Amino acid sequence: MLRFVSLPRQTPDKRAPELRREDFEEIYQGFQERQAEAQASRCSQCGVPFCTSGCPLGNHIPDWLRLAAEGDLREAWEMSAATSNMPEVCGRICPQDRLCEGSCVIEQSGHGTVTIGAVEQYITDNAWKNGWIKPIKPKRERPQSVGIIGAGPAGLSAADQLRHLGYKVTVYDRYDRAGGLMIYGIPSFKLEKDVVARRVQRLIDSGVTFVQNADVGGALPFAEVREKHDAVLIATGVYKARDLSVPGVGNNGVVSALDYLTASNRKGLGDRVPAFDEGYMNAKGKRVVVVGGGDTAMDCVRTAIRQDATSVTCLYRRDRENMPGSAREVLNAEEEGIEFRWLSNPKLLLGEPEALSGVRVAKMRLGAPDQSGRQSPEEVPGEEVDLDADLVIKALGFSPEDLPGAFGEPDLALTRWGTIKADPSSFETSLPGVFGAGDIVRGASLVVWAIHDGRKAAAGIHDYLRRGELPHGTNTVGKQLEEYDPRAYEPVAAK
Ligand SMILES: Cc1cc2nc3c(=O)[nH]c(=O)nc-3n(C[C@H](O)[C@H](O)[C@H](O)COP(=O)(O)OP(=O)(O)OC[C@H]3O[C@@H](n4cnc5c(N)ncnc54)[C@H](O)[C@@H]3O)c2cc1C
Ligand code: SF4
Repeated sequence: MLRFVSLPRQTPDKRAPELRREDFEEIYQGFQERQAEAQASRCSQCGVPFCTSGCPLGNHIPDWLRLAAEGDLREAWEMSAATSNMPEVCGRICPQDRLCEGSCVIEQSGHGTVTIGAVEQYITDNAWKNGWIKPIKPKRERPQSVGIIGAGPAGLSAADQLRHLGYKVTVYDRYDRAGGLMIYGIPSFKLEKDVVARRVQRLIDSGVTFVQNADVGGALPFAEVREKHDAVLIATGVYKARDLSVPGVGNNGVVSALDYLTASNRKGLGDRVPAFDEGYMNAKGKRVVVVGGGDTAMDCVRTAIRQDATSVTCLYRRDRENMPGSAREVLNAEEEGIEFRWLSNPKLLLGEPEALSGVRVAKMRLGAPDQSGRQSPEEVPGEEVDLDADLVIKALGFSPEDLPGAFGEPDLALTRWGTIKADPSSFETSLPGVFGAGDIVRGASLVVWAIHDGRKAAAGIHDYLRRGELPHGTNTVGKQLEEYDPRAYEPVAAK
């Protein structure tokens, strides 16, 4: 260990931009065994591991880095799996620069952070390759059942935890495939679909029932789900796209990011997608302008370039330093030929209702800080430029749908942002026996936080089902979490 002094930081090899623009395969090659061991050995084994504090899951990072460095990959995987349901997914798509790696001590001393995410991915990919990850066989079966609404990372992690505890678990999802945004939002060049699909298959093999095309609050009433199960988890994510409010936004050729990405992901999965085939959701041969600066905008620009757009420009109203998207993804996009226009905001979409022809862009500057302390962008009068465009993609973020209305549950309490109000430790909502997890509770966030919430909500549900007769609102979950032994959740194969 401590080889950071002599061994430089090395990330997995990245495919050349000209090559990766041609397909939707992951851009990183992944570590080879010796590379992973060597990079893990750079860890300084801090007494107080800040990387663990920087990880939402509190992963025991220095421990599995040491085991990996010593070549004990099986134990490294067992240790990693004890705190995370999908380490290979987080290793691929967590914005590590803002989380674990951003807190790495050797980074602070100028040696370059340990490549925590890449080693984490390697450890679990290797476990899959060696057949160590097996279906769950609970130590005991329990009579109660839990209904989970939403098969994204929050719902899947909760299903995994609850099945380990022996509950019968049914996951309902309105889409035809499980995985949530990991399947229909995030493109394959960041996270290939079979990485998610094998996690879903393992849950199916473990006895979890998936009911796809089940729109709860639509064709399937929420009350029916509640009636059927002893506890319910709402993990429906946030899907209401924020809109642009400029003239011309209704023009043909203006689309929302998730519709665009879903069409592309479906195409990659082999589905028939008329909106893509007819050209409406396809960037091929078009001048594309993407509005927004988060992960979704980065995924749109990089999808458009792979679809053979003539040009791709990203407009963001703040500057590079204030972009919400991961710095790594901005760099990847720049390498692939995307033009970024910082401090730029669309003012008017040009053309006719039948066909968009361009975007009038206002120059912005950063003004006084708002309530959150962030500088507010304001327009610089008289500084405008017109860009040609055939396709404008709106990637301005998401807010929650009206669940109390859709579910016919006016007593389902919401926060002022419209997300579900849940107890911060048990994740129970205002409805007894109904829990919430993931984006629908915290607002649009990250996969790793959805996993965190899914795990905590599962512990809350377990506590609720065990306390049974106690009145609603009696919270014993804090005590239960103190007693919580992560090894109890280890995959069966590790025993
Ligand atoms: C384009 C894009 C790129 C992203 N990139 C990253 C990234 O690189 N790294 C990262 O960490 N995070 C990223 N995120 C964020 C991440 O995907 C989400 O934070 C995470 O998926 C939230 O998980 P969830 O389980 O709460 O919800 P979701 O993943 O949204 O899953 C919710 C599920 O609930 C289902 N559902 C919704 N309503 C109903 C209903 N009424 N009945 C039945 N089913 C329903 C949906 O079909 C869906 O399958 C990205 C998000 C987007 C949109
Ligand atoms: S889960 Fe994310 S934040 Fe935690 S160690 Fe893995 S990559 Fe880092």
